[in-house]
Amino acid sequence: MEYRAFGWTGVQVPVIGQGTWQMERDPAAAVAALRRGIDLGMTHIDTAEMYGAGRVEEIVGEAIAGRRAAVFLVSKVLPEHATRKGVIAACEGSLRRLRTDFLDCYLLHWPSRYPLEETIAGFEHLVGQGKIRFWGVSNFNEELVEEAVRIAGPRRVACNQVLYHLEERTIEHFVVPTCERHGIAVVGYSPFAQGRFRSHPVLEEIAARHGATPRQVALAFLVRQVVLFTIPKASRITHVEENARAGELRLTEEEIRRIDRAFPLPPPRRGYVPVL
Ligand code: NAP
Repeated sequence: MEYRAFGWTGVQVPVIGQGTWQMERDPAAAVAALRRGIDLGMTHIDTAEMYGAGRVEEIVGEAIAGRRAAVFLVSKVLPEHATRKGVIAACEGSLRRLRTDFLDCYLLHWPSRYPLEETIAGFEHLVGQGKIRFWGVSNFNEELVEEAVRIAGPRRVACNQVLYHLEERTIEHFVVPTCERHGIAVVGYSPFAQGRFRSHPVLEEIAARHGATPRQVALAFLVRQVVLFTIPKASRITHVEENARAGELRLTEEEIRRIDRAFPLPPPRRGYVPVL
């Protein structure tokens, strides 16, 4: 597994992590899958208070029990809780369900109706208390990223988690360059289009050349720049193992150009970020 600096934080995080959305459907399978993923180096685990209305955080808590130090644990606060007080209370609930005393990173799940200053004040309070190491945002377009940096100052926003897969490359126009400029890690979610992944002859050909699979080639493309990370969700061990092996796959410049042509960028749109 390749690890790299998580933006300006400098923390070494695997390029391929593990998503957990909808893992409440089969808790035993989820715990086994997450543990196997940790064994294989996919130690960046992404969850949220929203998932299964808190149930998924409990499942993650079980999966990481006894292995907390190995994990880069991320959770998210719902926008409806994004006041200063609300963020602090929500974090305490997440910590309880996750059975840990700190998060590595805590994100605002999507933009809220509350002033961003309030949310950030809550995050900074939690940093001061040692309950979170870093904080970030999710589903923020480039203008909102700039606003967050303006409010918080440089080297405060650790990451922006956004929708990113081969058929949805909108973030490459403005969101990725803006984050890169500020040293903000970009974590792409739903790398398999939420289970609607479609292969392509170009992916198949490149996969065959590397003794890999089309999905592994897709994941390797999605983390081809140092600023990019991805968090596929897999509740089956075979899927976990396939995804983890993508963390060793290196594509050549020519292969990257071919994939780029096979999955063209949509037209640029300022101030827009696609969501699920
Ligand atoms: P995804 O990772 O694109 O796709 C998940 C689906 O792909 C599952 O059905 C999974 O099956 C399947 N899959 C995974 N690996 C596979 C493999 N190697 N071969 C075949 N199928 C495979 O979808 P996602 O869950 O939407 O996104 C990933 C994570 O991103 C989420 O779990 C969540 O943590 C995060 N996310 C964040 C936001 C946000 O607003 N910030 C939004 C959406 C998602 P099995 O489960 O059966 O293995």
